[in-house]
Amino acid sequence: PEVRELLLSRITDVHDYPKPGVVFKDITPLLADPLAFGALTDTLVELAGRYGATKIVGLEARGFILAAPVAVKAGIGFIPVRKAGKLPGATLAQAYELEYGTAEIEVHAEDLSAGDRVMVIDDVLATGGTAEASLELIRRAGAEVAGVAVLMELSFLPGREKLAGALAGSPLDAL
Ligand code: IMP
Repeated sequence: PEVRELLLSRITDVHDYPKPGVVFKDITPLLADPLAFGALTDTLVELAGRYGATKIVGLEARGFILAAPVAVKAGIGFIPVRKAGKLPGATLAQAYELEYGTAEIEVHAEDLSAGDRVMVIDDVLATGGTAEASLELIRRAGAEVAGVAVLMELSFLPGREKLAGALAGSPLDAL
């Protein structure tokens, strides 16, 4: 409960960003507070352990920031899932729907294989499209999904349903 309050106090609502009518959850105050960032990291390390993760996937870009210290503390590998065109090696790619148009994410094919149990970490679960596409990449690589862990879910959007039970948890639950 105290951790939840601490984390909540370090996330700010930015109105009309990135466009009019949108309320953007800004986690930069949380990252700047080592107590809050440390508490979040510990919570995610605990979740990764509980779900038996053997690898951590971070989703570009804020997911990288949260996932990297979790992987180090858990003593398991960090794998970046990036927007298309950013990874230099052979990749698996997955397209997904945006509100307007489509996007594509990639992972290095050699980073995931059968026998891996992968936890996906990101900051915000909104429509769930990005996280769902990352689960497709993991499964197509032959690896197993341990779960998705996000700092917060936007409860007015159907992200949780889209992940069909793969949501391992959110330190802040649904906002
Ligand atoms: P989704 O694919 O619609 O679930 O969108 C999730 C992606 O958009 C994540 O990678 C988030 O980092 C980003 N995102 C969506 N809404 C917010 C927000 O309010 N704050 C920060 N990131 C957001």
